[in-house]
Amino acid sequence: NQGIGSWPARRARMTPDRVAVSYRGREHTYRELLERVHRLASVLGVRRGDRVAFLGANQPAMVETFFAAGLLGAVFVPLNTRLAEPELRFILDDAEAAVLVLGEERDGAGLPGRHVGGAAYEELVASGSPEPIDEPVSQDDVCLIMYTSGTTGRPKGAMLTHANLTWNAVNLLVDVPLAHDEVVLISAPMFHIAALAQTLIPCVLKGGRAVLEPSFDVERTYDLIEHERVTVMFGVPSMFGFLTRSPRWPTADLSSLRHLLCGGAPVPEPLIRTYQERGLTFLQGYGMTETAPGALFLGAEHSVDKAGSAGVPCFFSDVRLVAPDGSPAAPGQPGELYVQGPNVMSGYWRRPEETAKVLSEDGWFRSGDVGVADEDGYVRISDRINDVIISGGENIYPAEVESALYEHPAVAECAVIGVADERWGEVGKALVVPRAGVTTSPDDLLKHLDGRLARYKIPKYLEFVADLPKNAAGKLLKAPLRKLYGGG
Ligand code: ATP
Ligand code: MG
Repeated sequence: NQGIGSWPARRARMTPDRVAVSYRGREHTYRELLERVHRLASVLGVRRGDRVAFLGANQPAMVETFFAAGLLGAVFVPLNTRLAEPELRFILDDAEAAVLVLGEERDGAGLPGRHVGGAAYEELVASGSPEPIDEPVSQDDVCLIMYTSGTTGRPKGAMLTHANLTWNAVNLLVDVPLAHDEVVLISAPMFHIAALAQTLIPCVLKGGRAVLEPSFDVERTYDLIEHERVTVMFGVPSMFGFLTRSPRWPTADLSSLRHLLCGGAPVPEPLIRTYQERGLTFLQGYGMTETAPGALFLGAEHSVDKAGSAGVPCFFSDVRLVAPDGSPAAPGQPGELYVQGPNVMSGYWRRPEETAKVLSEDGWFRSGDVGVADEDGYVRISDRINDVIISGGENIYPAEVESALYEHPAVAECAVIGVADERWGEVGKALVVPRAGVTTSPDDLLKHLDGRLARYKIPKYLEFVADLPKNAAGKLLKAPLRKLYGGG
């Protein structure tokens, strides 16, 4: 078995007594993890190629289901716990899951197919056989079908092979020197690619300890960092932002932290500076589900002087920026970002047409994101192609306007959308969540933009709102914003 499902066995022969997984006071060593994976695999009732869905928060059962499926040559399909029942049903049917493994907190009511686990998960594992399982799994077999987060439409199942995920881990390890004794806090949901592929998988590869948390909570995060002596943590920018707004921020003992991985959305420069002031440097990255996910990486040494960019291509991957006319975009010019490399997915599950739209014969994947490279090749993600506001023939990239707004101390969060305008076709509208305790007015903020941005980029409207809609990955959802506030 050349797949990732064999990794607990490989670890168990090298470091059987190290703790692999901690969860709410429970611990499993690599030897125990291996035994539990064998037991679970023996009772899943699936064969090579079958899809094994998992619904639940981060917990040992999720890790065990991932490895058990891999061991059998089956395909792990983690489901987003925040989806509503019809959305979950859509994915379970789309993936034709042979079995749905439920986390301890879920009962699966209303969902199709065969269910196991839930409150009876421990009994299920205990009922299985600890005998080793020997399936001929190849690196090129599909390991994971992960549905994209659906910010631009219906989620699509990206098929990632064992090789894709392994190479992504290698790309990460080339630049992030993870040690054997890392304590990796995993509180971002593993049903999204970053927590699974940038933290859990490299952690197990190195024989580290994964500290699982069912959800991100500021207090718990500080408790775990201090008591478990966490060394590595991944978060989307909003998670790292929440930590700084806690009263514990100035005094918490953060001395155990070695690597902070931040990505999945643009990392605001003030956030980078705030962490820098505490001696903490982000490792930043850009990627997507389809690239398993790492495509660009910004190491610690350039975290500050190249702030605002997402870095250069990961070691074994290539990136190019393509201008609208198909020619290579020059430095300073926006272009659509394409990725090629051993981490690029084999396609969307059962969507040959959608696959053909984004994946060329020679393996270049079209991201749908717009990037601009500087003279040194550092790429700033300026926007999503379908998120561009076209105002009087000028392109406005909302991300650029948002980062200018973020430079104002009164802006806690913001989003810029396009609204219809008789004169210009579209104009920008900014929705701003003001920071508590700071007084400001929409006029203030518009004045702040004056001089910072070209006239045409300054939003015509600016409105204060209490919060902004986000998905489980902490990503801003612009579609509901447009629905709510798109009226002008
Ligand atoms: P869908 O494809 O279903 O609309 P999604 O693209 O949000 O959903 P993911 O694969 O989870 O689903 O997210 C990848 C996207 O996140 C990228 O294409 C990019 O738009 C954004 N992104 C990730 N990292 C960064 C970053 N460092 N800076 C800016 N944007 C980022
Ligand atoms: Mg996408």
